[in-house]
Amino acid sequence: MTTTYDPNNIFARILRGEIPNNTVLETDHALAFRDIHPQAPTHVLLIPKGPYVDFGHFVAEASAAEQAGFNAALDAVLKALELPAGFRVIANAGPDSNQEVPHFHLHILGGRNLGPLLP
Ligand code: C5P
Repeated sequence: MTTTYDPNNIFARILRGEIPNNTVLETDHALAFRDIHPQAPTHVLLIPKGPYVDFGHFVAEASAAEQAGFNAALDAVLKALELPAGFRVIANAGPDSNQEVPHFHLHILGGRNLGPLLP
């Protein structure tokens, strides 16, 4: 799996403010924004600000401070979204997952019964 980061991927451009987004929460280490094609009533993407291609790259290469900051942002966004009936977190990585945007992101989905993990 490639770990060569494309600095012009769409989420890098969102982080640079070149493309608008519907922000839920921003911290020093992470940005949470609403997915433009929501798959559930709540569909938020959480991305680190550092240049990581996917989950594996982030876990292997991000500093302890970046990982702690990302975890803190995840905790804050889950609290802000208020999903008492539950939620699902998904991270696609690589071609088998059909990852479209090569900047690590978590999908946070909720607001309805999400059914089985895979259709
Ligand atoms: O995991 P994957 O890379 O396939 O997901 C990318 C997600 O980014 C899609 O759900 C897509 O709707 C979302 N997206 C977005 N805003 C953009 C471009 C893509 O929310 N400008």
